[in-house]
Parts: sequence; C-alpha cells; structure tokens
Amino acid sequence: MAADAALHAHEAWMRLALREAERAFGMTGDNPWVGCVIVSPRGELLGRGHTLGPGDHHAEIAAARDAHERGHGIVGATLYSTLEPCSFHGRTPACSRSIVERGIARVVIGMRDPHPRVNGAGTLILRQAGVEVIEGVCEPDVRRQLGAWVLEQHPDDALGRAQALPEQQRVARLAEIYGVDCRTMEAFFAAHPRCLDRHQRPAAPPSA
Ligand SMILES: [Zn+2]
Repeated sequence: MAADAALHAHEAWMRLALREAERAFGMTGDNPWVGCVIVSPRGELLGRGHTLGPGDHHAEIAAARDAHERGHGIVGATLYSTLEPCSFHGRTPACSRSIVERGIARVVIGMRDPHPRVNGAGTLILRQAGVEVIEGVCEPDVRRQLGAWVLEQHPDDALGRAQALPEQQRVARLAEIYGVDCRTMEAFFAAHPRCLDRHQRPAAPPSA
C-alpha cells in the first residue's frame, strides 16, 4: 500500500510537470517541450520550469532557477521531469550533470529521451552519481504530449514500433501512442518509405 501511495504522489507531481510542459509548446525550436517540477522531501513545491528557446535553459535548469529565485534550496529534493535529463553538452551544458552538482537526491522521469546520444545515458549519469532514478511515471501521457516532436526529430522510434505491429494496425496504434491523428501518421509513413522498408526487410544476403 505504501508503494501505491508513493506512486500516486509521483503521478500527481508528474501531471503538474506535464501541465508545465504545455507552456513550452511552439517555443522550443527543435528541442522537446519538457516540463519539470522540484519538490522538497516534505512534499512542498520548490520550483517549476519548462524548456525555453533554442540555446536557452532546459526545463530542469529553469525549474532549479525558479526555486532559487523563490529562495528555496534544492539539496536533497526530488526533481520530476517529463523527459529524461540530457547527458551531453550541446548548446547548453548537460542537465544530468547539473542535477548531480545541485545535490538533487531523486529524479523521476516520464520517458527516456529517444535521442540516440541520450536514451538511458542521462539516467546512467544520475545513478552512477548516487541519485535515485524512477522511470516511466505517466509514460503514456508523456509520449502522447511529446509525440509530434518524436515523430519529427526521432522517426526511428516510431519506425521501430511500427515494425512490431501488424501492418493494418500501424496507423491507428501509432496515432494513439504518439497522440496525433491518423492523417498525421499516414503522412509520416509516406515521408519515410525507405526507412520502413529498411526496418521491415531482413538484411540482404551477401552477393557472390
Ligand atoms: Zn537538458
């Protein structure tokens, strides 16, 4: 029962992070619209944030700065992020390293970042630094919220799922998984015919 209550609390905070992410729609360039909240060990909201423009803060850092501006320390706190914190220094420093440096004790994520350079690498950095990581909280909701970004930026994620589905179910099932309409999903498959072939076809035997 205690575990159920804890999961329930995690889901409630993740739903707040999902609402925070809505504020980033259309403002993030090719970055995902991520939402984040930071919560004290006593269950108080310390800070909230969402992804800002390209090259500007990611959601995790925006939330940490929000907490700081409100005068709250975040050492020992729990950070909820709809997407796995990034693991490499791109236009901004890696959030997973920044989270470790800020002394966050626990990170709860909705879904892993399908970016091939992240996809588990962010959670690994956190775990290796002794941060507790809980994954997959409200994952279906997060995937639907980020669906259009995944389809645009990481089509292999959807093409891999398509491979595992009977052909006649692909459009409807993936539209549901990624929170888009069937017409969008049909357009996606029309735009990636070769990729789908590559996923479908067994490797060609060596000639000669
Ligand atoms: Zn980041």
